[in-house]
Amino acid sequence: MNSSLKRASPSIAPGGSMKTDMKTPTHPTEPQGKLERLECSKCGKTYPHTVPQNVCGSCGKPLFARYALEQLSGKWTPDVLLSRPASLWRYWELLPISNPTDIVTLGETMTPLIHTKRLGERFGLSEVWVKDESRLPTGSFKARGLAMAVSKAKSLGLTQLAIPSAGNAATALAAYAAAAGMTAHIFMPQDTPAFNKETCQLSGANVTLIDGLITDAGRIVADRKTREGWFDVSTLKEPYRVEGKKTMGFELAEQFEWELPDVIIYPTGGGTGIVGMWKGFAELETIGWIGKKRPRFISVQSTGCAPIVKAWKEGATEATPWTDAHTVASGLRVPQAIGDFLILEAIRKSNGAAIAVPDDAIREAMQLLPTTEGLLTCPEGAATVAALKQLVSDGMIESSERVVLFNTGGYQS
Ligand SMILES: *Cc1c(COP(=O)(O)O)cnc(C)c1O
Repeated sequence: MNSSLKRASPSIAPGGSMKTDMKTPTHPTEPQGKLERLECSKCGKTYPHTVPQNVCGSCGKPLFARYALEQLSGKWTPDVLLSRPASLWRYWELLPISNPTDIVTLGETMTPLIHTKRLGERFGLSEVWVKDESRLPTGSFKARGLAMAVSKAKSLGLTQLAIPSAGNAATALAAYAAAAGMTAHIFMPQDTPAFNKETCQLSGANVTLIDGLITDAGRIVADRKTREGWFDVSTLKEPYRVEGKKTMGFELAEQFEWELPDVIIYPTGGGTGIVGMWKGFAELETIGWIGKKRPRFISVQSTGCAPIVKAWKEGATEATPWTDAHTVASGLRVPQAIGDFLILEAIRKSNGAAIAVPDDAIREAMQLLPTTEGLLTCPEGAATVAALKQLVSDGMIESSERVVLFNTGGYQS
């Protein structure tokens, strides 16, 4: 593998060609894996995907999209990707949209996977890589999920979308809703970063700032949505944002030539990224593109809000709500996640871990990628660097292991 090439551009994907016309994805139609149904991630109850759905009507847990994967197995091979644009839409057969005209896109580029040798050397590791999600539209990986959710909403004829957010999801929804001619109703904490408040307003969303956290915002949306005729696109209470997020796992697999890394260090709020990648890897295995190997998932939170870490340490299968949540990494300020049991399952089954890093360590780590590699990070991305440092000093990573950090968004002042 040529790492200098990998550093160059998103076209690092084997044979992937970076088309300039990112707004026009190609959508092959044969063979079709395609969405068959929605299925509860907890109790297995199934629901049609042809009408709007939120959570399971029986147990209230997240619904997962299920595809006709057996129709792809053996017939759909990785070389079909070579001629497709470097965007998340290249995995079309494993995405929940049926009609290409429903796609709402702002140019969701495949993000670069960068071999950060100098950062690795700092910690005595030879294979530290950064998946740099800051390159996506609206400046964070939330674009993946909202591109999918808004496209699906369009296919279902929805026009009024509501979201509780810690910040970046709101910015992404506001943009995709604007692009689709829909209305975004946004509820977020008063002390959400200015960037998020301003971008939502610029994109014409209806913004309500609340005295509370994302969970309080979620309660307001839940209370008002039926009366107002809004569709709730809260993460994992809407089945398709996780489908967008799973494409991080597809890209990672493709960029490493279908051999997954040893460790993934992921800054965890609602956990949609971990849950999505875990689901995506299972789909890739079912169609025969990867083997059984999974990376150890390391979930990183802030010591000021670490419900998943606490649950993992206690050996619990669900998390208890965190009180008094505070952290500089606003994306990690999620005191309660509906997908907690799914995050914990992925951590456990992958033989991973969950660790909390103090805000001071996050602030300090903000400089590490910029100074060693010239890569600016968001606080959440910096948290993965702080976690790496801690994991190495605890002897939890071997020097030759391949480790991927997720820089989930761009630097904002
Ligand atoms: C939302 C967010 C996270 C947390 O992502 P989840 O997949 O919901 O856990 C991390 N970093 C940034 C920058 C975010 O916006």
